[in-house]
Amino acid sequence: MKIYSTRKLYAAGILPKPPSTEDVVQLSERLRALRLGFAADHLTELITQSVKAAWSSARFLDELIRLELERQEERRIKQALRISHIPSGPTISNFDFAYQPSVSRNQIETLSTCQWIRDCQCVLLQGPPGVGKTHLAIALATRALENGFSVSYYNVDEWMHQLKRDGEVHPMQLKHRKYMASNLLVLDEFGYQSMSREEANLFFRVVSYRYQKGSTIITTNKGIGSWPGVLAGDEVLAGAILDRLLHSATVLNIQGRSYRLKDLESSLANQSQAADKSSGIAIGESRASC
Ligand code: ADP
Ligand code: MG
Repeated sequence: MKIYSTRKLYAAGILPKPPSTEDVVQLSERLRALRLGFAADHLTELITQSVKAAWSSARFLDELIRLELERQEERRIKQALRISHIPSGPTISNFDFAYQPSVSRNQIETLSTCQWIRDCQCVLLQGPPGVGKTHLAIALATRALENGFSVSYYNVDEWMHQLKRDGEVHPMQLKHRKYMASNLLVLDEFGYQSMSREEANLFFRVVSYRYQKGSTIITTNKGIGSWPGVLAGDEVLAGAILDRLLHSATVLNIQGRSYRLKDLESSLANQSQAADKSSGIAIGESRASC
């Protein structure tokens, strides 16, 4: 069988000729001028791949644009995560559903489609410490960002300082604040500290403004019956807040063991197994010596 050199294949028109170095440099500069830097950086690599695999020009262009779009999307998500202050780490895929059977995987998967955000609904995650409320709130908020929604994430106690500073801000300006304007507002750890009357009123102002305009996730260790106690003992205000938040909301009541204790539980179990074994050996040994 006759083996042709690549140069001969180009000459015979069997393989499409690779572009000249000058053409590549010029194309790369033009891509940069269009702010397609990633495509420009990977142009030579992609041309080599395209020549080897004999891609059509349409396929080459498609691959080039796909690469650039993927990189731009990655960059957008990174930047949005930074602006939103969402802590990194917890995701839906690293949530251990087997450890927390009171959390329905189906329900979380439905929430991760973000339809509830399109419908301006809320999610309330309640339960004792360590059961994964913050984990799930972060995971759902990250999913929302990936789906193109604007998100702002606050710990309630820290957020209260900002709310109080904004107490006198004119409503026209207030509506541009991130906690008012974001598609999704995450309020983590509601209820750990009781609010003053002023704080409870400011909280109501936000909930009332966002009602049917945006979505909110609240994580809390308090059952609904304890909300008036958190909101300066004001039953009427608590009722008005809950009425707006819970109108077509998803409530996840997580009842289970703290994940924080998981490692402790397994190390204690290992220790007691080891203790059983060694006492077994000791008993065995002492019987043998009898
Ligand atoms: P909560 O907000 O309910 O007090 P967190 O969400 O802060 O609890 O969970 C405490 C720690 O345990 C976090 O590091 C979290 O990622 C982890 N965690 C909790 N539940 C799970 C779970 N079911 N699977 C994996 N990690 C979990
Ligand atoms: Mg928490």
